[in-house]
Amino acid sequence: MSESHKIGTVYLVGAGPGDVGLLTVRGLELLRKADVVVYDYLANPLLLQHCPQAQAIYVGKKAAAHSMSQDQINAILVEKGKAGKRVVRLKGGDPFVFGRGGEECEALAAAGVPFEVVPGITAAIAAPAYAGIPVTHRDFNSSFTFLTGHEKEEEYREDEAKAREPGAGSDVDWAAIAKLPCVAFYMGVKSLPRICGKLIEHGMPADTPAASIRWGTTPRQRTVVGTLADLPQKVAEAKLAPPAITIVGKVVSLRATMNWFESRPLFGQTIVVTRTRQQASDLSEHLAELGANVVEAPTIELAQPGEWSEVDEALEHIAEYDWVIFTSQNGVQFAKRRLLDRGSDARAFAGVRVAAIGEATAQAVRDELCLRVDLCPKEFVAEALADDFEKRGEIRGRRFLLLRADIARPLLRERLADGGAVEVRDVSIYETRPATSLPPTLLDALAAKEIDWITFTSSSTARNLAALLGPDYKAKLEGVKLASIGPITTRAIEELGLTPTVQATTYNVEGLVDAILKSGMPASA
Ligand code: SAH
Repeated sequence: MSESHKIGTVYLVGAGPGDVGLLTVRGLELLRKADVVVYDYLANPLLLQHCPQAQAIYVGKKAAAHSMSQDQINAILVEKGKAGKRVVRLKGGDPFVFGRGGEECEALAAAGVPFEVVPGITAAIAAPAYAGIPVTHRDFNSSFTFLTGHEKEEEYREDEAKAREPGAGSDVDWAAIAKLPCVAFYMGVKSLPRICGKLIEHGMPADTPAASIRWGTTPRQRTVVGTLADLPQKVAEAKLAPPAITIVGKVVSLRATMNWFESRPLFGQTIVVTRTRQQASDLSEHLAELGANVVEAPTIELAQPGEWSEVDEALEHIAEYDWVIFTSQNGVQFAKRRLLDRGSDARAFAGVRVAAIGEATAQAVRDELCLRVDLCPKEFVAEALADDFEKRGEIRGRRFLLLRADIARPLLRERLADGGAVEVRDVSIYETRPATSLPPTLLDALAAKEIDWITFTSSSTARNLAALLGPDYKAKLEGVKLASIGPITTRAIEELGLTPTVQATTYNVEGLVDAILKSGMPASA
């Protein structure tokens, strides 16, 4: 934190067009160190995850009945700067492209508050890029122009908008604009008929390709393509609302071959990931890479055991076992942490063979413990591991240590004991608890019927989700497709009176994603 007697600095940071990956490295550094973040409607609120330490002040139009005036925003920046804070003024796209960043700098300069500017990727470049439209191309245009439709939208208020009606001010020279080979209009959705009409009237060919892109670079992106003559009607028919960029020029025709973003297989699908926060990322990233809009709603929380004595006892005597069995990445991680906390390390496993259920678990054993697994069954379930042990004649007379979750099924323990193992010690290396609540974003999206899929990666994710949704969970889940990672999870889903739409053939995250992909796209997106 800055000292209060010193004057702070205000950083005008371009948040980029929406995709959180399109923030600059400099912008990210500043967010991480910010005391205060002043952000608005177009800056993706997910960026605030980079600055949990900062006071976040929302000044966008949807905050309350009253949006903040530009003077009020300027006053906040000046006040926080004078109070010695590191202030990030996070603005959608680039701060100086129709973002009123210039006015904020003037106010700061007048008040003697130091400021810096971090440019951002502006919507007129990024949204077309994600719609498969390069804004310049050697065959079509050697210039590209940014214009504003000046309507009442995010950045301009009603009174100001009136004074800036397209064509009203001396700044709009339609004859000149109509000669340009490629133009992009910000804030031009409502005045689109007027803009297109003026361009045609001043000589731009009516068949010039044109496109409007709403919420570009985000999973909500929607693109309407047409010509100068018919785009306004198509946009109206599609009910395309702000914020959208409209680009007019021959380059729009290239979308036919370059539409990479919207053609990804899961684009337009909203998919819920219910596993623990610790485990969600690999599934979430997988789905997001395929274009899905991912909603993370952990239904399970992991915790260390309330009581360590049993675990410690087992860890101390690892060398006395023939086999140590891990059944999840979490088990590996908790074992590693406890070993290190106790002043021990991977040498505790010397001479012991290691088995793992699941590729990801085997990988964690390699990466986290620097051990190779001796056995990892082809099928990622406890039954398969027991079968493999049996086939190898590895049960009778052997000692087994199972380091698993407190809710692990008894099957493996029983199979080993029945098969003649001398000792089977089943230790809860971590505990699982149902999450206490679901994120409001999920509940809202379910109510609005915006969820396409829910993924279940274990029986407890299914049971916990139902419990968290309450007694009418079936009604809430109506129309939502359910994806199960394997037969055990499927059984749990069926016990809830629900039917999985798909079940993975390979019982892991890749298999789950594959099953969703193979089930084909729904008609609506
Ligand atoms: N400073 C911003 C622009 C602010 S003006 C920038 O550099 O991008 C607000 C207008 O920007 C919106 O009305 C819309 O026309 C455009 N805009 C911003 N983000 C957008 C997005 N993700 N997709 C489409 N248009 C967007």
